[in-house]
Amino acid sequence: MALFTHEEFDHHEKVSFFHDQETGLKAIIAIHNSNLGPALGGCRMWDYATSEEALTDVLRLSRGMSYKSALAGLPLGGGKSVIIGDARKIKTADLMRAMGRAVDSLGGAYIIAEDVGSSVQDMVAINEETDHVVGLPAKGDDVGGDPSPLTAYGVYVGLKTAAFHKFGVDTLKGLKVSVQGVGNVGYHLCKLLHKDGAELFITDVHQDSIDRVVEECGATVVGLDEIYDLDVDIYAPCALGGTVNDETLPRLKAKVIAGAANNQLKRAKHGDALVEQDVLYAPDYVINAGGVINVYYEYNARQSGKALKQDEIYAHIDRIADTMQEIIALAEQKNISMAKAADELAEARFQNKTVSENGVAA
Ligand code: NAD
Repeated sequence: MALFTHEEFDHHEKVSFFHDQETGLKAIIAIHNSNLGPALGGCRMWDYATSEEALTDVLRLSRGMSYKSALAGLPLGGGKSVIIGDARKIKTADLMRAMGRAVDSLGGAYIIAEDVGSSVQDMVAINEETDHVVGLPAKGDDVGGDPSPLTAYGVYVGLKTAAFHKFGVDTLKGLKVSVQGVGNVGYHLCKLLHKDGAELFITDVHQDSIDRVVEECGATVVGLDEIYDLDVDIYAPCALGGTVNDETLPRLKAKVIAGAANNQLKRAKHGDALVEQDVLYAPDYVINAGGVINVYYEYNARQSGKALKQDEIYAHIDRIADTMQEIIALAEQKNISMAKAADELAEARFQNKTVSENGVAA
């Protein structure tokens, strides 16, 4: 398994492999870039077919975190970890504690959090071995717990900025928005959009999730595939990645795409195709950063012993609007796609160790 010639290798600073014979832990922790601070990112537990596949995932995901945290204005680097194995079959508190020791051995260079296959309870077990963990249960009014409402709020801020820029309006009232996936984030996003007077069209594979939004927001329900053909102003993907692709692009009529799902563009070329279709795309990792902003405050509060309240976090998330303006300006100035402009801005920040103007000082 060659690292330096791996197609996803992108000057990653450190990639560590861990094995614990007693618990069966097989894990990889990758730190992509730590110029802005310690690398923070979730722990994905997945039944990878090969270790090669696990390495590919951790290299790609850790790189993504460098971009996300840089544009979120956080003094954090990009990192991620993977545990190889089926979470439903081999996950135990002991295995998670072994993962905690692996994280601790890096001395704070990597801070672990939840991701697919790992939960708040797992972070509690990890916390028995290391302090370098976030996503622990919330205490009272303090930070922590489920980040979905904050992620949704960030998506809402980014969506509004894109809509105001594209349509020259200062309210969402009367705009038609399709929301694909009304799970944790999609549900909270719908509530915010509904409050602003947007007309909602929703789809999901789970009827109970649909019912909740219909009841609370009066949304119109559409089919899983029908969502791509709707005559709406804004498309908000909040379920799967890769839904902006060769097949859906000719069908999409929305002039703004802004949602929570990670990796919405199937390929980089689809970012350029959106420009040609005159669609304003709010880069996914920019507007879905509410969760990472939330856990940064949680970590900071624990390390400093100070209590931090939700209003500080919301104020930070509000600055996603400024970042969006910056990306829009750069894209227009250089005549490049929003996706490229976001990447360029993020790279400039983490490569040059730039303290962002709209974030926390590094
Ligand atoms: P979730 O699992 O709670 O919600 C996803 C919803 O999408 C579910 O209700 C599911 O039934 C639905 N869904 C699945 N396949 C679908 C399909 N083909 N068509 C329509 N709906 C479908 O997940 P979530 O936490 O709300 O996250 C949503 C997206 O946002 C994910 O891509 C996630 O990676 C991303 N994201 C989430 C957070 C967060 O804080 N939760 C942060 C950043 C990014």
